[in-house]
Formats: sequence, C-alpha cells, structure tokens
Amino acid sequence: MMNNPYTYAKISLKNLKHNLGVIRKAVGRGIPVMAVVKSDAYGHGMVPVSTALEQYGIDGFGVAFVEEGAILRQAGITAPIYVLSGFQRGEEALLLANNLTPLVYSVQQIDLFNKAVGGRHLAPALHLKIDTGMGRLGFVYDDRDTLARALRRIKKLNITGIATHLSDPGGSRSYTAAQIRRFWEVRKYLESALSKQLVAHAANTDSFFHYPGAVFDMVRSGISLYGYGHKDLKPVLSVFSRLISVKTLKKGHCISYGRTYRLNRDTTVGVIPVGYADGYLRSLSNKAFVGINGKKVYSRGRVTMNHIMIDLQNIPARIGDPVLIMGQDGSLRIGADTIASLGSTISYELLCGMGASLKRSYE
Ligand SMILES: *Cc1c(COP(=O)(O)O)cnc(C)c1O
Repeated sequence: MMNNPYTYAKISLKNLKHNLGVIRKAVGRGIPVMAVVKSDAYGHGMVPVSTALEQYGIDGFGVAFVEEGAILRQAGITAPIYVLSGFQRGEEALLLANNLTPLVYSVQQIDLFNKAVGGRHLAPALHLKIDTGMGRLGFVYDDRDTLARALRRIKKLNITGIATHLSDPGGSRSYTAAQIRRFWEVRKYLESALSKQLVAHAANTDSFFHYPGAVFDMVRSGISLYGYGHKDLKPVLSVFSRLISVKTLKKGHCISYGRTYRLNRDTTVGVIPVGYADGYLRSLSNKAFVGINGKKVYSRGRVTMNHIMIDLQNIPARIGDPVLIMGQDGSLRIGADTIASLGSTISYELLCGMGASLKRSYE
C-alpha cells in the first residue's frame, strides 16, 4: 500500500510515558498495569510502542491474537503477554513457543492446551476468561456445570489468573457493580476449587478511572495509554497535513459531492489532502474542524476519499502551510475523542483507522 505522501502521524513517546504515570497514580502503587497493544497499539504501532513501554517498566502486554504475541516476542519483548481472545485450534505450538498466556474461554481450548502441553514439566500459565455480562467471550459466570467440567479437565495446566470484561463502565453504575459482584463470586469459587490464589483482572480504562472496586490485582489499559479517558492524559498520536490549495470562491458556490454545502458569502476555501482513505471518516462531512496557524477552521461539504475542504475564514494561509488534523500542536488540542464524536463514533475507531493507514514517525 502506498501511504499518503502529505499527511502523516507523529507519535509522542514522551506523552506515552506521561500517560503511564497518570495511570499508575490512578490505580495505585503496586497494581500491575497490562498495556493493551492490540490492533497495532490502536494504530500507534505495536512494536515501537511496546518496546518503549517495556523500557518504562510496564508489567505486561495484552494482544487480541496469538500472532501479535509472537511478533512482540520476535521484537524482543520479555514481559508477560496475554492473548485476550484466547486461541484457536492450530495455534497451540505458536502459543507455547512464544510463552504467551491465553485467556481461555472454552472446555475445548482446555483440551487443546492439555494436548499441546503433553509431557512438558512446566505447564505455561493460562488465565480463565469469565463472561459476567459482556456477552462476548468467556465462561458464563453462573454456568457452574461448565466451569466444573473445565476444572476437571485442567489436569496439570497452570491456571494463574481469571479475567472478565465490563461492558458498560462509562454508563450504568448498577450494571457494572453487578458484573464486579459476579466476578468476585466466580473468583472465590475457582480459588477454592483450585486451592490457590488467582490474579484477577477486570478493568479497562473507563473502569479503573471510575470504579476503584474494579481494579482487583491488575488493570488492562488501552485507550488511556494513548491519551484518552481522563483529563490529565495527553494525546500520543497527532496527525499533520498541509494545505495544497487556497482559492476564493463566490457566494453560492457549492462544495464537494452532493452539494451539501453552499457558500453563504465569498469564502477562501482550502483543500487538505486527508480523506476517508486515511481513516478520516466520511461521517465527519460538514462537521469536522482542523487547526491552521493555531486556530480552528471548519470543514465544508463531504469528506472525499483523499481530500477535505475547509473555510479559511480570515486566516492568512498559504499553500504548504501545516495543518493539525488531530492530536496536539503547541497549545492547540484537537482530541480524537472530540472529532470521533462529531463523526458519531469513538476515539478508538478513529485512532485505529487513521493510525493504520498513515505513515508514522516517533519522537
Ligand atoms: C481492548 C480491551 C481492553 C482495553 O480497553 P481500553 O478501554 O482501551 O482501556 C481491555 N480488556 C479487554 C478484554 C479488551 O478487549
């Protein structure tokens, strides 16, 4: 794939380090922080971000897939790596060869793991994933029959932890409290059945900032590392572009496909080479703003594949001037969360989309 030559992402490792400090302070000293680096670290680059985080003393990494874990090991990562989506048949060897800790959620996975471990002395660690109300992956919290069946089959497997995922920590307090309560109960049941303590973890960003009771023995931090979810965090990814056209159009002239914007006065219109091919969502049409010379200017008309148009108002701007699309430049901040909500989505989707498609540099 060819990257957009005029628009690129800058990743601030300094802000990444700052954010880890804010997170550690919020969850309290001594609580391990797992950095969630799935989906290429939410578009920030999994290997460079993880390498930096390991230097900053991170306690572990969370990835979605086994293959991501293998890539991290190849890059020299030595901290524990948790595979949040478990594994599928055929991935056992890769899992074991790379000393990855899967979050296991079915009896079938336990059987596969048993077989793969075979005659090894040291069984690698695994965590059990419990569905306490998310309705995605996990042993259902009150399905004691299946849990008991799983326990009977663990043989010499080394279960070291249990995990759950909260589905609405930014919303319903009572639902989140119920999930936390269910998790406590399952943990108690499993610890007594296995006669050992388990590392329990439930909290993602929204959870550990809002529910101290969700912190348990470890937190899983994704979006907060990248700068969103709390006012003290700083955006790690910033997207920059430049003006490639500046011209004055008369009142009445229409902008972009579908003529959804008609100028109500003579207007200086700029063109910026960023579009939905770069993950800049089409749903931002007529809604987004960007920063030029430290000022906000608004986009007009539909977002196209490679371009957006902006109303330059009275800002003296020339072809080649730098443009902040998202993130931070000096004192101007254009949050991915702000832009995402204008486009009816969340910072996660915008970061993944833009980070994945643009050229990245690290500083
Ligand atoms: C993605 C993910 C996280 C990270 O969530 P953030 O809201 O980005 O902190 C944590 N746990 C699980 C299971 C996830 O899939």
